[in-house]
Amino acid sequence: MSDKHKDIIGSVVKISGPLVVAKNMTGSAMYDLVQLGKDKLIGEIIELKGDLASIQVYEETEGIGPGAEVHSLGEPLSVTLGPGLLTSIYDGVQRPLDVIRQNAGPFIHRGVSAPPLDLKKKWDFKPSVKKGDKLNPGDIIGTVDETELIEHKIMLPPDVSGTIKEISEGKYTIEDKIGIITSNDKKDVELKLAHKWPVRLSRPIRKKLPPDIPLITGQRTIDTFFTVMKGGTACVPGPFGSGKTVIQHQLAKYADAQVIVYVGCGERGNEMTDVLTEFPELKDPKSGLPLMKRTVLIANTSNMPVAAREASVYTGITIAEYYRDMGYSVAVMADSTSRWAEAMREISGRLEEMPGEEGYPAYMGKRIAEFYARAGRVLCNGSDERIGALSVVGAVSPPGGDLGDPVVQSTLRVVRVFWSLEDTLAFRRHFPAISWLNSYSLYADNIEEYYKKEIGKQYNVLRREAMKILQQESELQEIVRLVGEESLSPKERLVLESARSLREDFLQQDAFDDVDTYCPLEKQFALLRLVYSFYTEGMKAIDNNVDVEKLFSLPIREDIARAKYLSEIGELEKLEQEVAKKISNLKQKKETDKKE
Ligand code: ADP
Repeated sequence: MSDKHKDIIGSVVKISGPLVVAKNMTGSAMYDLVQLGKDKLIGEIIELKGDLASIQVYEETEGIGPGAEVHSLGEPLSVTLGPGLLTSIYDGVQRPLDVIRQNAGPFIHRGVSAPPLDLKKKWDFKPSVKKGDKLNPGDIIGTVDETELIEHKIMLPPDVSGTIKEISEGKYTIEDKIGIITSNDKKDVELKLAHKWPVRLSRPIRKKLPPDIPLITGQRTIDTFFTVMKGGTACVPGPFGSGKTVIQHQLAKYADAQVIVYVGCGERGNEMTDVLTEFPELKDPKSGLPLMKRTVLIANTSNMPVAAREASVYTGITIAEYYRDMGYSVAVMADSTSRWAEAMREISGRLEEMPGEEGYPAYMGKRIAEFYARAGRVLCNGSDERIGALSVVGAVSPPGGDLGDPVVQSTLRVVRVFWSLEDTLAFRRHFPAISWLNSYSLYADNIEEYYKKEIGKQYNVLRREAMKILQQESELQEIVRLVGEESLSPKERLVLESARSLREDFLQQDAFDDVDTYCPLEKQFALLRLVYSFYTEGMKAIDNNVDVEKLFSLPIREDIARAKYLSEIGELEKLEQEVAKKISNLKQKKETDKKE
């Protein structure tokens, strides 16, 4: 607590749900934290008018009455960043839910708190700097093994630099001194394993880098057609039963990110309970260890105060930035940002601000844009050349699934990828239920460049051609609806048949099959080539007057359908040659027919 603010003692004049107005608050700053009443409830100043401060309170305000004391803490809402974050489950203001539950039972009582990180646990610190080293903010001074999966890099906080005066090796708690740095103005600063950072302020970086590398997920629809880049942003709506949970689990497990931060703003209490029980059971596929060993969970149920929900996305993204700063690829999943926006709306309503569209505050769009702007692939703060990435996937849940909803529209204005999860596909058991017609990725140029370099430019041609067939299918289906299938030419019928194969044999992917659950990029290419070869070879056959029925009833099509369950690329390539052979055999038969 800074001395400047110690003397500010205001008193409550009005209470409206999670919003409290206090007088005599002159001298406090926007976003400063305060403590209210004898229970020391925590709140944050979100509006200052004269000596009146409007405060959003992170706990139930029941029992707080006019006249209750308000103490300014003189610092903004911050998170504690250090070893121990991974495996933690927090609420929106970084209260450790699991620890609190252990101490106080399943319901968080007001004023109950526990430190965000274990203060007693000792970490084995291995320094990587020595006395006399001159360091800049963000420089790595050593490491601790945070979990079996992640080495935690201890960095100089963004506002600390100078010359190392002392550095120790050994076992320390996050409150112990591990060294001293003498700043350029000759002040000694103690070094520790953890530091604090205000959640509403993005952590500094040296430079944003272009999003040139895909965040490979092993999910074919996503990687091949609607790629999100490392440091990129994506939005996914999730009508009930559309497979949103499965997709999120798949991304958490398989996306090329070392650290996962999941921010859950639950609709109903039990929805979040599902997350809290399911996530800790997920296994990291590479190591077989619990996925939590590289995950931080932030959970808000709808019965938790709305202000904590408003804060939760900031808490989550700040923790994610911290791991990005270490040079990791980090993925944030926020579900659902619609609930976050509703929290904004509720608080804005209580502040009696002028409402915008559908009652959302006019600044909602800006807040959403600022949140996604914290994503990126970056050259990290510090003297070395480490690169980190923070990718953000935000789920939206508009009322009635209406994509014209202001939250969805504000989100689509800023994110670059849209995975259109559709319940109609889920009803047809097409999983993942991502529409190939309504989804998009605006990283098309970046991804083309990448694939050209990494796999060869033929993959880009193939991706485009395959998508063209899928689009033609929807046009042809319209014709079939109007005038019936008989009106189609053999080639048009082949388009329909090939599109069906693309959908069933390539796009559909079984998250619960040991092999199919993850499809490496190389296999995606081989599989797409195989499925597509039926189309190209088929076209040739039709040119040679082959009967399409014979083509369609080729037994090798069964093998194409089962190809996704093969793990050897060689087998896929062999099958592709086989397809060509079988189809050209059809042609020869026709010629012999003719001769006869
Ligand atoms: P939501 O969270 O949108 O309500 P879920 O993610 O729980 O829906 O998915 C509902 C069901 O759909 C799952 O239990 C599963 O049977 C099926 N499903 C979803 N995605 C897949 C997938 N990729 N592969 C196989 N089945 C899936």
